Amino acid sequence: MDKIFAIFGDVHSNIDALNVVLDDCRSQGVTDFLCTGDVVGYNACPHECLQIVRDLGCPIVMGNHDHYVSSAQNLEDFNPAAAEVIEWTRHQLNDDEMAFLRSFPFVKTTMGITLVHATMDNPEAFGYVFDHLQAEAHFAHQITPLCFHGHTHCPMIYEKQVSAVYRIDAQDFRLPIGRKYFINVGSVGQPRDGDPRATYVIFDMKTRQITFRRLEYDIAAAQERIRRAGLPERLAERLATGN
Ligand code: ZN
Repeated sequence: MDKIFAIFGDVHSNIDALNVVLDDCRSQGVTDFLCTGDVVGYNACPHECLQIVRDLGCPIVMGNHDHYVSSAQNLEDFNPAAAEVIEWTRHQLNDDEMAFLRSFPFVKTTMGITLVHATMDNPEAFGYVFDHLQAEAHFAHQITPLCFHGHTHCPMIYEKQVSAVYRIDAQDFRLPIGRKYFINVGSVGQPRDGDPRATYVIFDMKTRQITFRRLEYDIAAAQERIRRAGLPERLAERLATGN
């Protein structure tokens, strides 16, 4: 198969970042899209981002923000800025868009590739995978050689060999046979690894090459949209520093 996949997620309603990523996908010859969830939350363009991602017609798994926005989730114990945007987003979307969000599965396997937003170790609980022990709990559930996720907004590679799991800094590599990989594709719309550029991953099925893409976009425009929508200033500021 000569498919070239773009795997992207944590768009978080950032239309400026999403458009740059999709332009890059076109220039890279991407044939198929896979989305690791959290299309909405944090930024100011939920309607536009949902429409664009929906038009891609690609598999999408349920992110925690997609879930919180489209359910009756009580937000009392949430970080106040996150809760404010979830509440705001609920009021922006129509019934059809809410139903679309609710249709996302928590785990999806397609063409031998698995997608999950956070971890397959209880995917509906949205636990964070930051180290090899948390990745080990995930690998107990991963059947396919390759699984992509997001949620932490930090690109990362977890590799399972016969008896051990390793955490490897995000880097381009060719998938060896006989090992399993759990790859965090980072975030399109709100990177948190100290690099503010939008992130996604390309997987070339024929060459087995994994490539992490980092792209500059108009951060000032995204910040301006947040301010104009009256959303928390902290959410605008953090886009500039990538944390
Ligand atoms: Zn997220």
